[in-house]
Parts: sequence; C-alpha cells; structure tokens
Amino acid sequence: MKYDIQKFFKGEVDDSAETLEKYSRDASLLLVRPKIVLFPKDKEDVKNLVKWVSENKGKYPDLAITARCAGTDMSGGAIGESIILDFTRYMNRMIKFEGNTITVEPGMFYRDFEKITLSRELILPCYTASKSLNAMGGMFGNNAAGEKTLKYGKTEDFIYEAKVVFADGYEYVVKNLSQDELIRKIGEGTFESQIYKNIYELINKNSAEIENAKPRVSKNSAGYYIWNVTGENSFNLNKLLVGSQGTLGIATEITFKLIPNPKYSKLVAIFLNDLEPLGRLVDEILQEKPETLEAYDDKTMMLAVHFFPDFLKNRGLIGMIKFLWSFLPEFFMLLYGGFPKMILLVELAGVDNAESDKKCLALSRRIENFKLKVHITKNQMEANKYWDIRRESFSLLRKHVARRRTAPFIDDIIVRPEFLPKFIPELNKILSKYKLTYTIAGHAGNGNFHIIPLMDFRRADTAKIIMELSESVYDLVMRYHGSITAEHNDGLIRTPFLSKMYDPEMISIFKEIKKIFDPQNIFNPGKKVAVESGGGTKDYIASHIALEHDLKHRV
Ligand SMILES: Cc1cc2nc3c(=O)[nH]c(=O)nc-3n(C[C@H](O)[C@H](O)[C@H](O)COP(=O)(O)OP(=O)(O)OC[C@H]3O[C@@H](n4cnc5c(N)ncnc54)[C@H](O)[C@@H]3O)c2cc1C
Repeated sequence: MKYDIQKFFKGEVDDSAETLEKYSRDASLLLVRPKIVLFPKDKEDVKNLVKWVSENKGKYPDLAITARCAGTDMSGGAIGESIILDFTRYMNRMIKFEGNTITVEPGMFYRDFEKITLSRELILPCYTASKSLNAMGGMFGNNAAGEKTLKYGKTEDFIYEAKVVFADGYEYVVKNLSQDELIRKIGEGTFESQIYKNIYELINKNSAEIENAKPRVSKNSAGYYIWNVTGENSFNLNKLLVGSQGTLGIATEITFKLIPNPKYSKLVAIFLNDLEPLGRLVDEILQEKPETLEAYDDKTMMLAVHFFPDFLKNRGLIGMIKFLWSFLPEFFMLLYGGFPKMILLVELAGVDNAESDKKCLALSRRIENFKLKVHITKNQMEANKYWDIRRESFSLLRKHVARRRTAPFIDDIIVRPEFLPKFIPELNKILSKYKLTYTIAGHAGNGNFHIIPLMDFRRADTAKIIMELSESVYDLVMRYHGSITAEHNDGLIRTPFLSKMYDPEMISIFKEIKKIFDPQNIFNPGKKVAVESGGGTKDYIASHIALEHDLKHRV
C-alpha cells in the first residue's frame, strides 16, 4: 500500500512502528492500530487519496480513511484500522479573512486561529474546553461546543461554507442553498447532485419519523444531525456534515462566521448546599441571558484543593501570594463543614463595566428568594480562580492519580436542566456502587455534565465495569429524555448505544445517510454506523480498551 500511495502523494507517508503507535490513540480510552499515517501537503493529496481508496476498495476491502486533526477526540473518533490522514502538519493555514468570516484549512490549531480573530476583536464562540489543544477540522468533525454555546450555539451555527471531498474524490463547496438552487444542483448529474437528491428525498419520505426522534435537549451530537438540514427556503448539507466525524466526507477548507468578542463581563459564583432548587434556579438565571452558566461539584473542589501546587505553577511570587489569598474563603469553607454540593458560575456581559455590574446585581436580586450564598467577583483575577477549577478539573484527574487513568465513556451526558435535581442523585447512586473516583463538572445551563471516572486499567474487570456503567447510566439518561452525548460525539465508544436513543427506523435512516454519501464505507468506518468488523459494536469496545502496558503515548 505504501508504495502505491507514494506514487501520487506529495506529503509524507509513514508506517514506522513509532508513528503507528502514536496514532493508535486519541483522548479516548481505546487503542486501535492503523496501517499507515499520511500527512497531506494540500487538497490535491486529499482528492487523489480518496480517489485511490475508492478505486482500490474492491481489491483491499479494509481500505478506509480516518481524517484526523489534533486527536483530542474522547470517543475514539480519530482512530481507525486503515489510513490516518493528519491535517495538522501542513494543511494548517489561513486562506482568507474578510469582514466577519474567516477561511482556514482544517489542521489549524484553535490557539493559532484565536490569535488571528482576536486581533480584529472577533471570536468563534463555540470554542471548547480543549481550545489550547484542538484544531479547526476536529471542531467541524465533532460539532464542538463549549462554555459559550449556551448563548451562541455549537459549531454548526458558525459554518458559512465548507469545501468537502466526497467519496468520488472531488472537492465540492457545501453551503446553504435556496429551493431554486437546490433544484438546479439536483439537476447537475454529478455524484454530488445524487447526494443532494437522495438526502432531500430521505428527509421528505421520513419527515414524521425524523421529527419524533429529535432529542428534546438543547445540545446533541448523537447520531447524524439530520434535523436542521431543511429550513424555510433553505437546504444546508453542512448541518449534516458538521458533527459527522469524517464519516461522510473530508473537509479541506472551512469558512467560519465570527462574532464581536464581548469585552466587558463579570462572573457571579453561586453556592448550593442542596441540589433541590437547581432546576428552578437555572431557569431564573437563564432569564438574565448569561454568556455562560457552568458548574462543578464538591469533588472537583476537593481535587483542586488537594492538588493546589499545580494551580500555583508559573504565577511568580506576587501572583502566588495573591492567588493563595483569593482561596482563603474556600479553606475556611473546608474547615467549617465542607464544600457546597455544587458551585454555579454565571458570566454576564455588557457594553461596558457599568452594564455588566448592573446585570450582576439584577441577577443576585432575581435569585434572592433562593437564599443562597452569591458572590459577585471583584476582578478578573478572582474570576480566574473559579474558571481554573472548572477548566482544569479534567486535567487534574488525568495527571495526578497514581496507577489509575481517566476513562471517558459517560463523559458527555445531557438532560434538560429541570430534571437535574432528581437526575444527579440517581447518577451518584449508580456510580457509588463501583467505588470510583470521579468529578461532575459541566455546562449547567444546558444540563450537560462531564463525568470522567478514574479507573485502574490493570484490573481484569475494567472492561466489564465500563460496559455495565455505560448501560446503566445511558438507561438513566433515557428515562430523563436526554442524550448520551451533547458535544463529544459517538465515535467508537457510543455508536453501539445509539439504539438506546433512537428506534430501529431512525437507526436505518442513519445507515441510509451513510450509504448515500459513502456507498463503499471508505470514510472512518465504525463510527455513527456499526460495521461487522471495524467498530461500532460493544465487543469492539471491550476488545480495544487501551491497557496499562499499551500506554506509551497519551494525547
Ligand atoms: C481535556 C479535553 C476537553 C475537551 N472539551 C471539549 C469541549 O468543551 N467541547 C467539545 O465539543 N469537545 C471537547 N473535547 C473533545 C475534543 O477536544 C473536541 O471535540 C475537538 O473539537 C476535537 O478537535 P481535534 O482537532 O482534536 O480533532 P480530532 O480528535 O483529530 O478529530 C475529531 C473528529 O473530527 C474528525 N475530523 C478531523 N478532521 C476532519 C476533517 N478535515 N474533515 C472531516 N472530519 C474531520 C475526525 O475523524 C474525528 O472523528 C475535549 C477533549 C479533551 C481532551
């Protein structure tokens, strides 16, 4: 395979043992060894590769391409058994920046992207908690979201257009079409027009089924996101491609829409000793239209105090003293009766400082009746203390606990906020049976929590616990009409559980979508739709968990 590919491929073709080992992992708990890793120089490389794979699929049935950017996917979406196509080495440039739209190649890291957009006081507000690590193609692939999604939306809301290589090896511009444009497109007689025609018919034929299956939560990445493709006089295939984890086509250029970066904001911390009022409280807070509404639990707080030296790193002596001082209330809390059960962080923005202050006061008045401790932070440094704990909760777990590793598999559940007071204690009850260390932190405004237990990957029963817990936690999520993934997507770890969320008719619709775009199954197989060998089944998860001795490379 290597020599065949080298004949037409300008970028590097690498099948060294070290590279294959490195690319066997993403940020999931799985390990899947690829055959080869490619670093495309430009879009011609991508097009030629897709053409070559589709022409040779008959001869080599296992041939497939997994697009990859920074590999921070927690679901196993960025690993595969055949070809890994890494965009971060070369295809990482900005192409153009006009007004409030910016076009980039998929391999550009968000941290570089943000420097460019902030230089014009603009921002892509669906940035992730992994924003210092991840790249733009991965945000497209996962329909990524983050702390500002509550107010502004997910990645799908910020795609102006994308260039995508479909299974025939040609690159197409995908953008919102009017009814007339759609009719013209369908008449073009290409592979692309067949896709438009078939998806259009699939949606029309199954409109009632599709509508019934729509998860009743504010964020969902489970399954193919077919719901927003059609709108009033609009048909936008990007709504389906974004979040499809590279299973329908490969993006080579993405044009994002940006918004002005809100400059003046303030953080309010709200302390809850009892979860009972959480649902009503979230409703009240949302009335004030916050930028963010995040939360973390007492276990996260404990962890932060436990690993305090980590927070002090790189702050300098003065910074260290100021930071220590700012934590005094938490130390006193710990001394006198422990931490509150949950801390909510509400960020409110205004056109200037005076307006954001006014909004904070309005919020504290609005929630007076709840009789909670409410603290309006005085400055950015104090706000950063709370943000550090929220943003670092996962890294703290990842780095510190000896002989155990973070295990993301129930890492991204969502239920409507009104169900949280009942849902969280039930969830804790299930988890407590297994005596695992875990924290609960996430996006309270959406009811989306990240639960990432620590597990010992030398124990013989780890795979069994992962499968049992997935079953019982997802059953609980279903009882509360939620989704098994709000942002982190299905990948290998959740695809087998999609049937808990969707009935067989909807699962068939997902299979049909995959067949329309990718009839030979050359794009990232085993994610979203199961394949017989190559992912998407419970057995595949159990047999590909990365055990301790496999762990030379971590993302
Ligand atoms: C500590 C931590 C925190 C995280 N927090 C968040 C969070 O707040 N919100 C969130 O949404 N996610 C989060 N994630 C998950 C992940 O970081 C994001 O989804 C991120 O956007 C993935 O970007 P990446 O560049 O690492 O993509 P990768 O992991 O490389 O790929 C992600 C998916 O996109 C597909 N893909 C890659 N390139 C292309 C392409 N060119 N065309 C089509 N498909 C492509 C891949 O096949 C894969 O399925 C977190 C992960 C970690 C480790």
